[in-house]
Amino acid sequence: MGKIKTRDEIRKIVEDLKRKNKKTGFTSGSFDLLHVGHVDYLEKAKQKCDVLIVGVNSDSSIKQYKDPNRPIISQQQRIKLIAALYMVDYAFLFEEKNNNKNIEILKPDFYIKAGDYSLSQLSSKPIAEKYGGEVILIPIEEKISTTDIIDNIRMLSSTDSIEDQKFEGGIKAIFLDRDGSINEEVEYLHDPEQFKLTSNALEGMKKMQDLGYKLMIVTNQPGIGLGYFTMEDFFKVNLHMFKQLSPHRIQIDKIYFCPHTITANCECRKPKIGLIKRAQEYYQGKIDLEHSFFIGDSTTDVKCGQNAGIKTILVKTGKTKQDKKEDVKPDFTALNLLEAANIIEENSN
Ligand SMILES: [Zn+2]
Repeated sequence: MGKIKTRDEIRKIVEDLKRKNKKTGFTSGSFDLLHVGHVDYLEKAKQKCDVLIVGVNSDSSIKQYKDPNRPIISQQQRIKLIAALYMVDYAFLFEEKNNNKNIEILKPDFYIKAGDYSLSQLSSKPIAEKYGGEVILIPIEEKISTTDIIDNIRMLSSTDSIEDQKFEGGIKAIFLDRDGSINEEVEYLHDPEQFKLTSNALEGMKKMQDLGYKLMIVTNQPGIGLGYFTMEDFFKVNLHMFKQLSPHRIQIDKIYFCPHTITANCECRKPKIGLIKRAQEYYQGKIDLEHSFFIGDSTTDVKCGQNAGIKTILVKTGKTKQDKKEDVKPDFTALNLLEAANIIEENSN
């Protein structure tokens, strides 16, 4: 494509444009999963100059300096997408950590940057000013980030239950109640701000996962059916939860939820086992219920586990003391999820 050049080719182009009295602007980024925030930003950058040049971080520079698991999209594809944008005049790949070398070599009239940097903090400022260049900052109005997009996809894929997959052998699962077990009990929780992990929840979930169990959440959310909050609110809380779990490499396999009220008399509301059936269906019957566990803070959870023929652990992080809905005895009782993980370790085979 004509817009994609090497840095050296672009250096010559900039020199030529200077002779023609055209103002050049330079900016850069990874542009991994191009989104509307990038487009808005580049549009504004183009308004500052006659010719817009965009540096695209190479794959190795992203891996080395930003995140070893990124980029998702290869450099050949990222630069092709950038070059396809109407406001971009030239694009090139670069290997360095920052733009100092790019600016030194290209000497653009404007070095354009997104965001909230204080100009005095920029190491590139004296470099640009040395040859008469100028640094321009463009504030970002709406924060959209590729990381958020990835979290969203992760959240959706673990909420969705329709997918084709093949599974080998028996799957050991931990069916986990959410409110009162993973996070502290808040009535009709729908505000991410009010989501607080219970004590040792991270350690416990991590240990269960390391023991070879898949973590699946099974939760009643009657607040949706009652109109107290929306499905989107529920997803937002889940997303917030994922953000707290993912740095610890804890992965929730899926979230199965019942949005109905008690009067709807549905098949999915715990203590009925519709949600567990749904999980079993998703895994084509491969979940080894006999070697799985159901963990929750209420007697409803214990009853549900028992109805499904799964060993149960009652955790005392939630409503244990007040809840007398079902007359049941759990197989085990634990203070929190870490203690539950220890019990599982002792009783797994
Ligand atoms: Zn239901």
